[in-house]
Amino acid sequence: MWVAATPHFCGEEDCTREGYYEVRLEQGESVWANLTERDELNNRLETWQGGLGPPDEESGENLW
Ligand SMILES: [Zn+2]
Repeated sequence: MWVAATPHFCGEEDCTREGYYEVRLEQGESVWANLTERDELNNRLETWQGGLGPPDEESGENLW
């Protein structure tokens, strides 16, 4: 997974992604996140890379 560091800008007048951040998923798909969502994703990625493991999805609680 990869999160853009800068907002999308292509200069097209009818672009609906202007100012949004591209998030590339493992399947090669892309989704678009606003700044708040992007920060959330980055926080999660940092946590994962810190070796703490992903949050416990089933209980909705963090493991630490
Ligand atoms: Zn565009």
